[in-house]
Amino acid sequence: MPHLSLVAKADIVRRYCNSEPVNRLACEFGVWSSTIYSATKAAGVARPRGAASRKYTLDAGAFDEPSPERSYWLGFILADGCLISSRNDPAVAVGLSIGLQERDGGHLVAFNRFMRSNHPVNHHTVKSRQTGREYGACNVTMYSTTLVESLKRLGIEQRKSLRERVPPGFENDRDFWRGVIDGDGSVGVYLQKKGSRLRDVPVVHLVGSRWVCEGFARFVANQDGRREVAARMVKGRNHSQVSIQGHRAVPLLRMLYTKGCCALARKAAIAGEIASRDWPKRARGTCSVAGCGRPHYGHGYCVRHQSLHWAAAGGKPARRPCEVTGCEKPRTAHGFCPAHYRKWRLYGSPTARGRIGRPPRTVPA
Ligand SMILES: [Zn+2]
Ligand SMILES: [Zn+2]
Repeated sequence: MPHLSLVAKADIVRRYCNSEPVNRLACEFGVWSSTIYSATKAAGVARPRGAASRKYTLDAGAFDEPSPERSYWLGFILADGCLISSRNDPAVAVGLSIGLQERDGGHLVAFNRFMRSNHPVNHHTVKSRQTGREYGACNVTMYSTTLVESLKRLGIEQRKSLRERVPPGFENDRDFWRGVIDGDGSVGVYLQKKGSRLRDVPVVHLVGSRWVCEGFARFVANQDGRREVAARMVKGRNHSQVSIQGHRAVPLLRMLYTKGCCALARKAAIAGEIASRDWPKRARGTCSVAGCGRPHYGHGYCVRHQSLHWAAAGGKPARRPCEVTGCEKPRTAHGFCPAHYRKWRLYGSPTARGRIGRPPRTVPA
């Protein structure tokens, strides 16, 4: 480097340390980029080649410190993110990619903000495999093995689809679960028809791996102290689903979305609308016996009058047997006995093989 003065070298080193690209410096000083590299190497400040040529930057340690934001984005990545494999070795993950619908593009900008990254949000069109319709999508892809390592430490796996589990330590973290719901869940109100009456029912629905759905049901039960809702396998598919409906969904949404560090704007708006609505109290009739006035329990009677009614009738009528051929047990729900009902709820078929509490050996078609 005979033609670089000491002043020029000092200038190069200073600007290089301010993260100016090597190419620009080489151009300005009229030298090869290798000259810039040796000048910085001589000064002992050279970055490794890969880092020096990095076009977009990010904070690869964003997931190393606990924070509500970290919990939220971890949940979101568990639901909607994927680790990208290296082109040379598919077993090695080299980056993270998150893809969303076009309308949720603003959420990727928020993710960039959390990552202190300047990665571009790419927009493209994808064709749905199920409906064949085209729709707008967007994604952001970050290549960083440091980021991949810290995500793996937090339990994000490569090709995790439907094998994902709740990372330890996040079981009762509301920010984590809001991230999961924003990624793979839905929040809304549906119209339920009961006889001739129509009523609005708020619902929080989650689709995902069996372990994540069960983890969510457990989280909800821990929060409101009520019974755990069963996660069910979707008939003929490999994923599970769990629904929290009605009066239970309102405080849940309030707890998840009120004053959260970050949330998907679209779902937060629906959650806010549901949480602020004045929901009618559960309508409970009264006993049909004149002058009783106690709350309704069953068959038109209160608890007391119902037992008197059955006593007068000579005992309760016998239940019909279970719908499953060969099963003689009395039916209790949906035409099934308790054991067959539970299998139907969990696996979508009352005769699925495998023991209750374990995944079925064959997934019913
Ligand atoms: Zn009564
Ligand atoms: Zn049965």
